[in-house]
Amino acid sequence: MRLELVTVGAELLLGFTIDTNAAFLARTLSEIGVEIVRRTTVGDDPDDIVQAVRDALDRTGAVITTGGLGPTADDRTRPAIASLFGRALRMDEAVMAGITARFKRYGYANMPASNAVQAMVPEGATVLGNPNGSAPGLWIEDERGRWVAMLPGVPHEMRTMATQVIVPMLTKRYATNGAVVLSRTVRTTGIGESALAELLGDDGRDTVNGLPLAFLPGWEGVDLRVTSHDLPRADAVAALDGAEAKLRSHAERYVYGRDAENLAAVLLDLCRERRLHIATAESCTGGMLGERITAVPGSSDVYVGGVVAYEDRVKTASLNVSPDLIREHGAVSEPVVRAMAAGARAVLGAEIGIGITGIAGPAGGTSDKPVGTVWVATDVKGDVRATVRRYLGDREDVRRRSAQAALEQVRRSVTGSA
Ligand code: ATP
Ligand code: MG
Repeated sequence: MRLELVTVGAELLLGFTIDTNAAFLARTLSEIGVEIVRRTTVGDDPDDIVQAVRDALDRTGAVITTGGLGPTADDRTRPAIASLFGRALRMDEAVMAGITARFKRYGYANMPASNAVQAMVPEGATVLGNPNGSAPGLWIEDERGRWVAMLPGVPHEMRTMATQVIVPMLTKRYATNGAVVLSRTVRTTGIGESALAELLGDDGRDTVNGLPLAFLPGWEGVDLRVTSHDLPRADAVAALDGAEAKLRSHAERYVYGRDAENLAAVLLDLCRERRLHIATAESCTGGMLGERITAVPGSSDVYVGGVVAYEDRVKTASLNVSPDLIREHGAVSEPVVRAMAAGARAVLGAEIGIGITGIAGPAGGTSDKPVGTVWVATDVKGDVRATVRRYLGDREDVRRRSAQAALEQVRRSVTGSA
């Protein structure tokens, strides 16, 4: 079943509010096999609302709106859609009583007069209860069965109504033989999007085992997402398992997890199983690697601690990096990063030491060491590996990618897939 979403609110267009309602509805409805096939966002202008909803109805005949149901002058969804359906607004006594009672419950002697507009219901529309707010939702349908469900904009009100009211209604209306929309994400890192596509060859063109495939690059790496749109849950899971296996067979070396798994947590599990401990020595990431690791519950089993060695004399004083080495090769160099990893391991007492040193920018680059140059070294029980990368992003991006690369380098050493 396909429907369109129209989210209403100038704040969404201005970029001050992120449209989390749209994301929530897409995820929630996909669970019952309902797909949002297009999203439109409009401001609080009634003409814009009418036009967006009319176009969406022409395409799919099924529309959910969020926002603009409140009591203030900028809340225009109700009258706009009533006019689109050619229905008059009538005071609904039951809704009015509910709103008045709600205000009493919260200790107001009288309800503000403006709230009365929330009791105005288009002729023939169904009121959808809103357990968390004063504005109820509305369901309006024409003689051809084309419908619009209006939900409030306030995210927690919208969420409750979506799960408690809309999901049961749509499930009943559109029996989908148990079909669901399910996705699986295979998470890779340390390889670019196009190189990964080449590695997948014909199996990664745009479908895997017939399931559509998306490449989703970000600072953590490239996520590969396959989606099943029209199978019952058990069949969908089997199809996704098959697609995941195929993706892994081509790109195993770069795959660190699936779905929402995070590389730091994956690495900690690997180290815990092997009774390995980690110590860190960070320069340009300034503790970001330690933060990634300690954000994972239970990290104290594995992580002993780290040194933020920003100035050269701290590299020397805290990590025993020789001043001569720094003078000769510079702080951003292979010998120094190796010494940092080894120093972290020795000084802090762990089987694994990780060193990061680089130029995060925007200033500080030179022609042979441009901004974005980052050395990462891992010392696993004396087996030291150092790699250099040149990142193109801004300071934040360089730092985040560096921490991720360091985690990945240890993962590969520990699993023997280096
Ligand atoms: P109210 O009765 O509170 O006025 P409403 O239905 O009129 O509810 P809006 O006024 O449009 O809703 O929005 C209420 C709040 O919810 C605002 O703070 C707005 O930023 C937020 N909001 C609205 N739409 C969205 C959305 N699509 N995603 C996330 N937040 C939203
Ligand atoms: Mg409002």
